[in-house]
Amino acid sequence: MLDTLHRIVNDVNGAPDLEGALQMIVSGVKQAVGADVCSVYLTDFDARTHVLKATDGLRQEAVGKVTLPLGRGLIGLVTERAEPLNLADAPGHPRYLRVTETGETEYRGFLGVPIIQNRRVLGVLVVRQRQPREFSDDEVTFLFTLAAQLAGAITHARASCELTALASSDERLNRFLEGRASSSGVVIGQAVVAYRLADLDAVPDRPAEDPQAEETKFRAAVAAVEQDLRRLKDQLADTLPAEDHALFDALLLMLASDMLVEHTIERIRTGIWAPGALRHTIAAHAAVFDAMEDIYLRERASDVRDLGRRILMHLQSEDVTPPEFPERTILVGDEVSAVQLAEVPRERLAGVVAASGSSSSHVAILARGMGVPAVMGVTDLPVSRVEGRQLIVDGYRGRVYVAPPPAVLAEYERLVGEERELSAELDALRGLAAETLDGIEVPLLLNTGLVNEVGSQAIDEAQGVGLYRTEVPFMIRDRFPGEGVQTANYERVLESFAPRPVILRTLDIGGDKPLPYFPVVESNPFLGWRGVRISLDHPEIFLTQVRAMLRASANFNNLQIMLPMITSVTEVDELQLLIQQAHDELLDEGFVVDMPPVGVMVEVPSAVYQVEELARRVDFLSIGTNDLTQYLLAVDRNNPSVAEIYDDLHPAVLRAVDQVVKGAHAHGKPVGVCGELAGNPLATALLIGMGVDSLSMSAGSLLKVKWVLRSISRARARQWLKAALRMESASQIRAFMEANLDKIGLGGLYRPGK
Ligand code: PEP
Ligand code: MG
Repeated sequence: MLDTLHRIVNDVNGAPDLEGALQMIVSGVKQAVGADVCSVYLTDFDARTHVLKATDGLRQEAVGKVTLPLGRGLIGLVTERAEPLNLADAPGHPRYLRVTETGETEYRGFLGVPIIQNRRVLGVLVVRQRQPREFSDDEVTFLFTLAAQLAGAITHARASCELTALASSDERLNRFLEGRASSSGVVIGQAVVAYRLADLDAVPDRPAEDPQAEETKFRAAVAAVEQDLRRLKDQLADTLPAEDHALFDALLLMLASDMLVEHTIERIRTGIWAPGALRHTIAAHAAVFDAMEDIYLRERASDVRDLGRRILMHLQSEDVTPPEFPERTILVGDEVSAVQLAEVPRERLAGVVAASGSSSSHVAILARGMGVPAVMGVTDLPVSRVEGRQLIVDGYRGRVYVAPPPAVLAEYERLVGEERELSAELDALRGLAAETLDGIEVPLLLNTGLVNEVGSQAIDEAQGVGLYRTEVPFMIRDRFPGEGVQTANYERVLESFAPRPVILRTLDIGGDKPLPYFPVVESNPFLGWRGVRISLDHPEIFLTQVRAMLRASANFNNLQIMLPMITSVTEVDELQLLIQQAHDELLDEGFVVDMPPVGVMVEVPSAVYQVEELARRVDFLSIGTNDLTQYLLAVDRNNPSVAEIYDDLHPAVLRAVDQVVKGAHAHGKPVGVCGELAGNPLATALLIGMGVDSLSMSAGSLLKVKWVLRSISRARARQWLKAALRMESASQIRAFMEANLDKIGLGGLYRPGK
């Protein structure tokens, strides 16, 4: 049975369309269980019916025509109960409904199993038998297992088919595709699919008529790609800081490597034409990266394929004209590479949507840096069918609408308009004090990782940097940056904000932030070797970084050092000794630099319970609510399947934050929040009520949070906090805080839904 199951699932995954997929299912199942009939009914949620979508055994003419009202008959019963129904003699059941159009008059045995995804019953898979027959447990579990595996394939096929149907009908998709919200903002634009021109996989194998000529053509194509990359690198110079160009250097290195060029030429010399030889080389090298467990390294496979397609484009045509980009281009692809992103003129790039990738992909980092909404990991995205279509990208909620219906479009147009109006209102707050109605000042600080990502307005607005994620410049290189490179980088950040304080966080790699040149292969990366655990095991990496930070601060004296992922006091003691060592070394070398304040992040439950011991040892604390939420709720922060459960307004998270603030203050130490919660206007009053000393957030949140801050008093914030801390669920707290913001006229600050 297992073999049959795998075969059916494989066939279905490769089916060209939904009808084809369903037909394979019904025929495969009918044969496997020796039934007289197998059919699939899918639920049409809009029309509130179950529709016969495929059958083997009933009349084919009935397919697509026979519908049952939602909740009627045995199909309705299976849907309602969301569990299998196995009846030896179906006509005897009180819910039995005779359907004559299908020709089903004589059937007695009935087994129906629901097809469920994300708690929704998408349809019912049914087998029927003329004779009374109770299906065996094995048969029930076979159908059950199959249905569970098919749900994803059906959703995917459905999304693709609905799009095709759009070409010939006025019907529009109400539904949206879901992915990871990777860069916030809402945009309406037109899809441009990356790389329609060169499909490497479609290149056939052919003999080379003249291997020498093929080799020359290939070398010319590689040279042309090299030129393109250099041009794109220059083009990006205005948008991104020099440190990010390292990415292009890595691609250029890859292009020049033996792996790519020499291996292809070797193949050409064996008598294969250049495109075929290239296809083999790229497939072999991409497969090596694909097989790696590490997400970051897996993403290098897309860089390899990207280079392959570029070379192919030049091989196929000597005159490669770049595609036309509409005014509001939404770049869409199975994989979108950073190079493709760079190809779109900055003023035309409105959004990014990719079927693969996560919020830690290069492209997501770049999109955030450019302030362009992005949704990654939209696994159901039918890339080949969206070219030129209108898209809505909701980078807040990780949603993408393809050819949206007028009502959805109108709603999003309203939201885009509101965002614009809101930003005008927010602009009026620039330069005003970040203080409550009763005059309590709460510094609003910036979270950043790329200096140039932050515009000068945000630099002026923020009262310092509350979290500089040093791993970002490490992630876009192909080796560890040395002390000199790091010093120059930190100097730029410290100088931009001096004399305001800048908190540089020591390297927090591992987890979802792997380095391409320092692979860590673990089955549980978030519970593994990450953050200060790596720093302690590799003091040379830590010491180099701390020396660079200290040297950078010599002229500005506004540095604070923060240690991530602290789980016990010994880590702090040992790291403080290393910081001391770096400081002593520099003094010995003649540098004049003060010892900076050192703080820890509280982002692991153990640190919450040991906050007092930690507070005694350090100069400040900062709560990382992103990881704290992940660890308190046991929810991988990057896993779309459990994204619904990840909620930083969960009462457990708020109570933990409250406890940390109290613990820090008991020892007279300041405590800030630097996770996403700090930039959420719904949480501002709660955090102020707790007495949090500073809030650190991305540039886009600064003015929103300031608005809330300036609209409440500490007393009112405390009242709201007291009520919220008694609530039992995140949804209650969210609704309560939304109502509160509405009451003070700030309802426009929170996004509908979430
Ligand atoms: C956090 O965990 O809340 C945090 C600010 O750090 P990061 O998101 O970089 O893990
Ligand atoms: Mg963290």
